[in-house]
Order: sequence, then C-alpha cells, then structure tokens
Amino acid sequence: MPAVKRIPERKCCGCGVSGPGKNMIRIVRTPDGDVLIDETGKKNGRGAYVCRNESCITKAAKKNSIGKSLNAQTDMTLYEELKKRCTAD
Ligand SMILES: [Zn+2]
Repeated sequence: MPAVKRIPERKCCGCGVSGPGKNMIRIVRTPDGDVLIDETGKKNGRGAYVCRNESCITKAAKKNSIGKSLNAQTDMTLYEELKKRCTAD
C-alpha cells in the first residue's frame, strides 16, 4: 500500500475551489464550540476556509456552508465580520 500524502485541504466554503489558502480566511471552531475568525491560521480547532472576497462570502452565507462545515452554530454576524476583512485589504 503506498502511503497517502495528506495535504491539508483548504476548500472555499463559497465557490468550492481548493487552493493553498493564501488568499483565504480561516474560520475555526474552538474546542469550546466558539466560532471565530482565525487571523493567524494557528488556532486549535476545526477549520473552514473561504476566499477573501465578498462574492465567496455571500455564497457561503446563503448556504451557511461555514456552519455546516464546522458543524457549529453560526449567524450572520460571522459573515458580516468576514466581509469586513475583505474590504480592509
Ligand atoms: Zn471562493
């Protein structure tokens, strides 16, 4: 059996495209169940990614795909916060 290389998958919750995560924002569900935007990319917990652009965040918000991906409760304020992160660049 060949060893399977596990490359961490960073799949955008909006457009569904996988990438290196360079232009993606990480959202993390902490072991306590909080859902946070992880600016450093180093927080512990289950992560979800979305491209740093408004259309992807809007798509993710419509499907609540971040919440589904993290298996956590999210509300619109999370997506509003993510949008702020895009316009700040
Ligand atoms: Zn995307």
